[in-house]
Amino acid sequence: MTDRKPIFVTQPALPRLEAFTPYLQEIWDSRILTNGGAMHQRLETALCEYLGVEYISLFCNGTQALITALQVANLSGEVITTPYSFVATAHSLLWNNLTPVFVDIDPGTLNIDPARIEAAITDKTTAILPVHCYGHPCAVQEIRKIARRHNLQVIYDAAHAFGVRDTTGSLLNHGELAVLSFHATKVFSTVEGGAIICHDETTKRRIDQLKNFGLSPDGNTVEFTGANGKLSEIHAAFGLLQLKSLDEALNNRRLIDQRYRTGLSGIPGIRCIEGAGETVANYAYFPILVGPEYPLNRDKLFAHLAAHNVHGRRYFQPLISSLPMYCGHHSSSAENLPVAHRVVEQVICLPIYPNLEHESVDFIIDLIAQAAV
Ligand SMILES: *Cc1c(COP(=O)(O)O)cnc(C)c1O
Repeated sequence: MTDRKPIFVTQPALPRLEAFTPYLQEIWDSRILTNGGAMHQRLETALCEYLGVEYISLFCNGTQALITALQVANLSGEVITTPYSFVATAHSLLWNNLTPVFVDIDPGTLNIDPARIEAAITDKTTAILPVHCYGHPCAVQEIRKIARRHNLQVIYDAAHAFGVRDTTGSLLNHGELAVLSFHATKVFSTVEGGAIICHDETTKRRIDQLKNFGLSPDGNTVEFTGANGKLSEIHAAFGLLQLKSLDEALNNRRLIDQRYRTGLSGIPGIRCIEGAGETVANYAYFPILVGPEYPLNRDKLFAHLAAHNVHGRRYFQPLISSLPMYCGHHSSSAENLPVAHRVVEQVICLPIYPNLEHESVDFIIDLIAQAAV
């Protein structure tokens, strides 16, 4: 053991506490704490502009946003998705009485493999729910073509993809709907929070009703079986404040990403995941794959790092398809998901966050390099 202070996989970037006071003062003065007040409206406007999207609806968390996105899409039957994600992706399907059908991932991007989607489509399939894993774009054009051909909707779990752009603009504009998470561990945070991006005003209005119990816009009656997905004024204010320093935070992440890539490049058996066509990345995660040419297996390297107080994460182990509520599905078999099973035994997400010192990054690179000799 060393006496270094522990380095965790992520750490929220917090603004100075004093900088939050004027926002709180404004909320106190208004006496409006939630239900779409001024802060909420300002954050929606600011995010549309920052992200380059037309319609956004804020939520109390990403999971409730996912559940509501699937509800507004009005799906039934089976939905094709990836086993290599956070469990909320598939849970949102079960909350809508939909059956997940797992399709294996592409070994390069770690996103759903478009070449395997069509084989999983049945007459019960109504949608595809891909994930831009680690913020790297899915094969959005191929997925769109498949969806068109089979008359399926596409709803992206874009929880990792805040701010990511491709040659067409915001990655979040792909799919009928895209869902963000603003959890404290994500690139942009409202402490807890999330959002749905959609492309027309009617859908936006429906989403806003569904996150408010299904109340009619005038509040006089109830039209849908909605939930409570509202984001409070205090959370929205936190987001507005964070947005001010976001470009700097993303730049710091970029420098750390570069430093890891350079430092790890010569080490046999260590593979860094490349981008997948993003023109602007967000450096949300830094996953490495520990291959057979590396002298230690993944769990030994993980323990070696932990012994030096470096706490990576084995995201996304266990695979969603291996969890008790999913392992009985016919698409969950290991034979159907060979790439996901291999990758999940090899992955470590290394620490990355805006104020991670470069000296700490070098220390982590050295630990990985030294264990290789
Ligand atoms: C974080 C995350 C979610 C859930 O978001 P919450 O805001 O924590 O509810 C969903 N999907 C993925 C891929 C995530 O990483």
